[in-house]
Amino acid sequence: MSKFGERIHVHTGDITRLAVDAIVNAANSSLLGGGGVDGAIHRAAGPELEFECRMLNGCKVGEAKLTKGYHLPARYIIHAVGPVWQGGGKGEAGLLASCYIRSLEIAAARDCRTVAFPAISTGIYRYPKNEATQIAVGIAGTFVGQNSTPETVIFCCFDEPTAQLYRQAVAAIEGC
Ligand code: ADP
Repeated sequence: MSKFGERIHVHTGDITRLAVDAIVNAANSSLLGGGGVDGAIHRAAGPELEFECRMLNGCKVGEAKLTKGYHLPARYIIHAVGPVWQGGGKGEAGLLASCYIRSLEIAAARDCRTVAFPAISTGIYRYPKNEATQIAVGIAGTFVGQNSTPETVIFCCFDEPTAQLYRQAVAAIEGC
């Protein structure tokens, strides 16, 4: 069995279709919906989601907040706000790492056995994909090494080249 015992998976597809305990949304700090994966999640979850989000008073960059999944197959949505890439000198790496840590902590606190992440910040927020992937996989590897919940972390990539980057990053930490 591999080092992580199959606890980190890479999947290619639409995160809104995943029947997991929690999906993570790459939200913006208003939490009121936007483009990319955020728009897709709001459309698939239905208007009740925006109603709940309005009561949350936004979310800071590097933080995350939980809502119900409404019409999604996922039970919960963890809305994480990633940093906008500004060249790397504005604390972006720490803020992106914090998004993943906070999301995993929230998932663990709700006893989520499976949690799925999109590639936070790598779309409209322009974070370089390779660097973002190293952070995402590094945090997940450390977290599953130290915690029994979530049992499984899924990286849900929207395209195959991104999935390939994730598979390489998972293989690299497996070999450590
Ligand atoms: P951000 O504003 O944090 O950059 P985006 O939604 O623009 O967020 O992009 C984050 C990542 O999510 C991108 O890699 C994009 O390809 C991917 N993405 C977009 N739609 C979906 C979806 N339905 N399921 C999974 N990933 C998606």
